[in-house]
Amino acid sequence: MRTAAICLAILIPSLVIVFLVNIPRIERIRELASHRYICPSCGSRFRVKWFRLFFVRWQVETTDKATLTCPVCKTRDLCRREDSIYEEGERV
Ligand SMILES: [Zn+2]
Repeated sequence: MRTAAICLAILIPSLVIVFLVNIPRIERIRELASHRYICPSCGSRFRVKWFRLFFVRWQVETTDKATLTCPVCKTRDLCRREDSIYEEGERV
């Protein structure tokens, strides 16, 4: 019980900090989300919702890769960001 309380006391403030740090960068995150990502295990290219990049933004910006779950094979792996940008109304 006590351990759970301590975990919450650490988890909640850190989530709040991540949230506050990212708010000014939402436009940047949306820009990153307009790119396609490539699954390393099945090779499919897919688009992610911007809020999925919320917690991995630093990873995308430093390595151009993001730990994402592939919508096709459901594998959670490092997906590379593709240069091409998803056009509005285009299907994946
Ligand atoms: Zn895949």
